[in-house]
Amino acid sequence: MTVTEHTGQSAMQSVDDYLSEVLAAIRPLPPRELGLDDADGAVLTQDVAAAWPLPPFDNSGMDGYAVVAADLAGASPDRPVTLPVRAEVPAGDTRRHELAAGGVIKIMTGALLPPGADAVVPVEWTDGGSADGRVTFGRPVEPGNAIRRTGGDAAVGDVLLTAGTRLGPVQIALLAAAGHGTVTARPRPRVTLISTGNELAEPGQPVSPGQIWESNSRMLAGAARQAGFTARRHPIVPDDKAAVLGVIEDALADADLLVTTGGVSMGGEHDVVKAALADLGTVGFRKVAMQPGMPQGFGMVGAAGTPIFTLPGNPVSAYVSFQVFVRPVVNVFQGLDFERPVSHRAVLAASVRSPRERRSFLRGVLDRSAGRVTPVSGQASHQLASLARANALVVVPESVTELAEGTEVEVLELP
Ligand code: AMP
Ligand code: MG
Repeated sequence: MTVTEHTGQSAMQSVDDYLSEVLAAIRPLPPRELGLDDADGAVLTQDVAAAWPLPPFDNSGMDGYAVVAADLAGASPDRPVTLPVRAEVPAGDTRRHELAAGGVIKIMTGALLPPGADAVVPVEWTDGGSADGRVTFGRPVEPGNAIRRTGGDAAVGDVLLTAGTRLGPVQIALLAAAGHGTVTARPRPRVTLISTGNELAEPGQPVSPGQIWESNSRMLAGAARQAGFTARRHPIVPDDKAAVLGVIEDALADADLLVTTGGVSMGGEHDVVKAALADLGTVGFRKVAMQPGMPQGFGMVGAAGTPIFTLPGNPVSAYVSFQVFVRPVVNVFQGLDFERPVSHRAVLAASVRSPRERRSFLRGVLDRSAGRVTPVSGQASHQLASLARANALVVVPESVTELAEGTEVEVLELP
C-alpha cells in the first residue's frame, strides 16, 4: 500500500527515493592537476607509479660509521679494532666519498652511502671516535647493516597509489617523497551555505524580540567540512526573492554545490526560497516522509546546472537533512560510490513515538559498548541544545509509531 492510500494526504516521497534521486543527479567533478598543497581530500583518477626508486639512493639508516665489514671481522671487546676516519658525510652532502678497506667514513642518517662501504656501524657500538681521528670497534658487523637500499620501499614502476584513493596526509607525503609536485585528482567539492530569514542576526550583534541569532550556516559549514567538502558561508540573506536569487547567482561563480536553509515550508510568499526558485522551474520542492526535515527542495541552477539543496530552516531539521541527503553526495562528486552512514544496532533505554508514515531520526546518546541508546529529552526541530547532547540518530521506520523501552533499533552514528 502506498503512503497516499494510508493517509489520504498529498503524496510524500520516501527518504530512500529522494536520496536515490539526488545521488543520480550529481555529476562527478572533472579531474584537475592539483598542487600537493591543494590535494588534501582529493580523489585520484589514475594510478600513480613510482618514477624514481624510493629511497632514491643507498643511504645510511643510522648515525655511525660506514665501513668495510671484513675490516671488523675479528673485533671483540678484548681485541678491538681501531681504524682511521677518512671523511665525514652529513645528510645532503652530494659529493662522492669513496671508501677503501682499512679506513672508515663517519656518516649521518640519510647520507649517501660511500661506494666501497658495505655496512654502517651505529655510533653506539663504537667508542664514539677520538680526537686523533680514529674510532674503535669492539664487535663485528654484518654486511648490509643499517643500510637503506635504493628502491627498498618502492621500485621504479611500482604502483604507489591506485585510482579512487582519497588523498590523506600520508598519501600526500608519499607523493611528495616520490618526487611528485602535482597530482591528477578530483578535488573536494566546494559548497556554499546560504541562510535566509528576516529574523536572523549575526551572533554577537544585539537582537530585538522577534529576532534570533543565526546558527545554521556555521553548523552546516562545519558539517560540510567534516563530510569532505570545502565550505563557505554566505552572509545572512533577507526574505526577499530578488535578494535570494541574486545571492544564488553570485554564489554559482565558485561553488560546486549550494545549500540554503529556511524559506521552503508552507508559508506561501513568506517562504521566499521556494517562491523564488519555483519560478525557475529547475528545483523540485517536495515533502519527504521523514521527521524532522519534511520540506525539501533539490534541483539545478545556473548555466552549469549547479546542484542546490534547499533545506528547512529549523536547525535540527537542517542538520538531519544535511546528514541524510547532502553528506552522501561528496563521494559522488569525487567519482566514488556514496558511503552509507555508520550504523549500529542498539537497545532503546526509553520508549519513543514517531508519526505515521514517516521515518523518524530521533536524537540520542549511543553507548556503543553497552549497546544502548538513550533518546535525549527535547526532540523538537528547534531544540539545538538537545541536538548538541546527542551523538547518534535513532531510526524509527515509516511503519512504526511507537517503540517500547528495550526494543532493538537502528542507530546512525553522528560524525
Ligand atoms: P523556515 O524554514 O524559514 O520556516 O524557518 C523555520 C524555523 O527555523 C524558524 O523558527 C526560523 O527562525 C528558524 N531558522 C531559519 N533559519 C535559521 C538559521 N539560519 N539559524 C537559526 N534558525 C533558523
Ligand atoms: Mg524563514
